[in-house]
Amino acid sequence: MSHTLSAIRGMNDLLPAQSALWQRTESLLRDVFMAYGYAEIRMPVLEPTALFARAIGEVTDIVEKEMYTFADRNGESLTLRPEGTAGCVRAVLEHGLLHHQVQKLFYQGPMFRYERPQKGRYRQFHQWGAEVFGLPGPEIDAELILASARIWRQLGLSDHLRLEINSLGDAESRARYRQQLVDYLRRHIDLLDEDSRRRLEHNPLRILDSKNTQMQEMLAAAPRLLDFIDDASREHFEQLGRYLREAGVEPQVNSRLVRGLDYYNRSVFEWVTEDLGAQGTVCAGGRYDTLVQQLGGPATPAVGLAMGLERLMLLLEVAQGAAEAVQADLMLLGQGEAFMSCALQLAERLRDGLPGLRVLVAMGGGGFKSQFRKADRSGARMAIILGEQELAEGMVGIKYLREDREQLRIAQADLVEHMRTHLAW
Ligand code: ATP
Ligand code: MG
Repeated sequence: MSHTLSAIRGMNDLLPAQSALWQRTESLLRDVFMAYGYAEIRMPVLEPTALFARAIGEVTDIVEKEMYTFADRNGESLTLRPEGTAGCVRAVLEHGLLHHQVQKLFYQGPMFRYERPQKGRYRQFHQWGAEVFGLPGPEIDAELILASARIWRQLGLSDHLRLEINSLGDAESRARYRQQLVDYLRRHIDLLDEDSRRRLEHNPLRILDSKNTQMQEMLAAAPRLLDFIDDASREHFEQLGRYLREAGVEPQVNSRLVRGLDYYNRSVFEWVTEDLGAQGTVCAGGRYDTLVQQLGGPATPAVGLAMGLERLMLLLEVAQGAAEAVQADLMLLGQGEAFMSCALQLAERLRDGLPGLRVLVAMGGGGFKSQFRKADRSGARMAIILGEQELAEGMVGIKYLREDREQLRIAQADLVEHMRTHLAW
């Protein structure tokens, strides 16, 4: 008797049909962050449970109910990382990377949260994260947000994402606000759902974040955190807004944006889309100026963000329509042995001369008609035609598959140079 094995609920395989889009997106993310002076850091997927409890906060959704925690064979409590910031701070402290130096770091990889799986919400998901240590000013918050805006531009997503920002102020102003908020919420206790009543004691700010539609009106009328923040945080927040607007990024102030983790202070932000239902936050971040110290390090200002890659891919699919994944930039077409030996060599020369160019040679036979269909399906921009006549004359035909342009004929010897000047990819 055989039974089928399947993946754990909420944990997905990434199949070849999707991996090209992931790879292209990941390499774009890497290029953009490197252009801003960030370097990669890789942390283990498992960390001691205490790290997350201390960093994220005991009374948060993540620590209360979402962590994959288990005892290893020695009885030590370990947790599959639910996010990257805590491990990143642990790593920079452990390796002494914070002594009088600024660190701009990025990381990527799987994160694990025991949540109810649905579109855009999984139990193993992937984040792209960036963290900056050692810079206290609003300029780095702005630059980090500008880097993300650049990514949306390059992915063609600018029209699908809007930027929401808020300031959480410092710990004292948050404590003052908390009292006012709790007083207000107590007056409306009959409207609070069970979750919110529970949070009222320990984490009332999180109630503002509630997605419960029945509470929205009451929450909209609640005292505004922004009215309580300290002067220095206000100045920081206003300067951040100015920098962003000057650079052409228009933020929307959302006074109810509080983020779910305890470590944030001052600037917090989210990039939100309307295209993915309730799972609309594609990227989120903020300042966490006290976390490094809280984890035993020197007082170090810090700011970071994390993008959910699955949500980013879902949004790309929406934005680009159901566009077929592009496998190739060029495809060489023809029949017979003479074609094949010429095409194999030409393809090698193209790959040598233009690293990164994706070149396919039509294999598996078929007439021109069926080869053109394959070329079209591959997403290639041009078909390079090596018919009998071209082979005899040392020429190639170039047919544009996606643009309304005349077919060309050029010498085989000029093909690499021609592509270098005519093909931007
Ligand atoms: P949400 O409110 O949607 O639960 P969050 O505030 O818990 O999000 P963060 O901890 O800020 O999320 O994580 C940063 C980003 O990682 C999110 O904006 C989202 O894009 C992504 N993300 C978080 N949890 C998941 C998940 N379970 N599945 C897929 N992506 C996720
Ligand atoms: Mg969550």
